[in-house]
Parts: sequence; structure tokens; C-alpha cells
Amino acid sequence: MSELGDALRRGDRRSLARAITLAESTRIDHREEAVALLDELLPATGGAVRVGISGAPGAGKSTFIEALGLYLVDRGHRLAVLAVDPSSTRSGGSILGDKTRMEELSRRPEAFIRPSPSGGTLGGVARRTREALLLCEAAGHDVVLVETVGVGQSEVAVAGMVDVFVLLLAPGGGDDLQGVKRGIVELADVVVVNKADGDLAAAAARTAADYANAIHFLRPRTEGWEVRVERASALLGEGIDRVWAAIEAHRAALSKSGLLEERRADQAREWMWSEVNDGLVDALAGDPAVAGELRELEADVRAGTISPTAAAQRILRLFLR
Ligand code: GDP
Repeated sequence: MSELGDALRRGDRRSLARAITLAESTRIDHREEAVALLDELLPATGGAVRVGISGAPGAGKSTFIEALGLYLVDRGHRLAVLAVDPSSTRSGGSILGDKTRMEELSRRPEAFIRPSPSGGTLGGVARRTREALLLCEAAGHDVVLVETVGVGQSEVAVAGMVDVFVLLLAPGGGDDLQGVKRGIVELADVVVVNKADGDLAAAAARTAADYANAIHFLRPRTEGWEVRVERASALLGEGIDRVWAAIEAHRAALSKSGLLEERRADQAREWMWSEVNDGLVDALAGDPAVAGELRELEADVRAGTISPTAAAQRILRLFLR
């Protein structure tokens, strides 16, 4: 075993952070090192409950993750918090980047918090987060939370790497399911109506009832699992136990039916194919024969003098010559 892998396995936080930095790097030698490290550590992965958490900005994600995180570490869990933030691929900023978030949790040695990798495509960010998730498992974290912001594509990416998907909502918003895209609601295994406290308690109860009704008409993400709708107050730390119980119940149902293994196997296979796709597109973009004609073909397609299909075939023939 490599020195880094060994230290990481012993739970050394700096080694875990270094390994994730390697995995996030675009330098070829770093990538190679990261791939070798992941291969070496693969037998030590798979031991965590992998939880995705999504919600619109302001729904209370960071407050909720802090409350859930403290609840878990107080019960002896070792937690890792990762993020997939599509805005960080554009602006370089990132959720979890702000040091003031999850202040108390970040001081706990049992918790490891990592901001979203910034830059690159959503696919690239998702890949780096998947690798980080495995590294956290190898380091002994038994709960990994992957946070994302409720905008669509990133939810699908996160759902593709976790066992259970939690959608966090704020109370109110009326009957249009709060503008949360139906597709995102369909990904949820557990729906949490947060801010169920004070003046917002009644609205939270209505929102929870609305969702409980609406969800009957949606196809559940997990066969044999009835989506649970829970109310919580991240601010007061109320309802956190019920949310965790729902996550554990989901996990138990999934394990019992064999769906957990199946889901993870499917996710691994899909990950492999997305790596192949990305690799092919990179190779194609870097191919000199293709590069020589790409501009002209693009201009012709834009001008309508050649059909996109014909141009695509031409590009592929050049590449596969
Ligand atoms: P995020 O953008 O989804 O990460 O949301 P934040 O965690 O930053 O919370 C947004 C705002 O909602 C902040 O002002 C929080 O204090 C507030 N908030 C979060 N959770 C609760 C809660 O359970 N009850 C109430 N009343 N406010 C909350």
C-alpha cells in the first residue's frame, strides 16, 4: 500500500484532503496517481450510507446539514460532507466554500467538509465528487452527504452517486409544488419540509400535506419504497431524528430487497460509460485531423449548407479513419 493510501486508511484528515486534491487536479501525473490510489483503496470503499441533499437556495440546506451532522457525530458517526455546485463550474465560487457555513460542525474532528470542486463541466465536477466520496469511505467515514442546489441537472448527477436522495423544502409556495421541478421531486426518497417552527409551523404543515398528496401521483425513485414527507426545524434541531430514521428505514428496505447492491452496481457501470464518453470527446477534440476541419464544418452547419447529421458523420469518419 502507498504511504498516502495507508495514512488515509488510518483516518488521517490531511491525507484524505490531499488525496481529494489529487483527484480534483487536471494534471496528467496527478490524475494517474489518483486513479492508482482509488484502485488500491477500492476494497476499503462502499461502507457509507450515501445521502444526496438538494433544495433551492434559502431552503436551509447548510443549516440542516449542520444540524443533521452534529446529530450524527454525537451518535458516534463519522461524517463527510461533499458538494456538487453547478455555479462553481461557471464562476469559480462554490457552495460550502464560505467558511462561515456549518461553523460548529466544521470544528468537529469526526466531520470532514469539502467544498465543491470548481471549474470544468458538470460531468467533470460529478466525477471528482464520486472519487472524493470513495476516498471518504476508505478513510472510514460511514455517512457521506452530497449537497447540491436545486436546479436540475446537478440533482440527476447526485442521484447517480447516492443511495438515498433527500429533498429539502421551505414552507409555503402554494400548489405548484413551489416551483421545484417535478423531475427533482421524482428523484426524492425523503422530502423534508424545513423551517417547521414559529410563524412558519402552520405553513409547513400545509406544505407537508400537499406534498404527501402530490407524491402519490409520482413514480417513486425506489421500487417498494413509499416516499416519506417529514417536517423539521434545522434552526431548533427538531425533527432531525425523524429524518435520520427515514433515511435509515430507506436504507434497510433497499438492503433487504437487494436493490442497494443493484443500484450501486448500475451506478458504477454508468460512471464507467460516462468516463468513456468524456475520454472520447476529449480525444476527438484533440485530434489534429478533426481539428483541421472542425471550424469549417461548424460554419457550414451554422450556415445551413450541410446538415448536422452529415457534418457529424464527417467528423466521426475523420476521427475513426
Ligand atoms: P441554504 O441556502 O439552502 O444553504 O440555506 P441556509 O441554511 O443558508 O438558510 C437560509 C436562511 O433560512 C437562513 O437565514 C437560516 O437561518 C434560515 N433557516 C434555516 N433553517 C431554518 C429553520 O429550521 N427555521 C427557520 N425559521 N429558519 C431557518
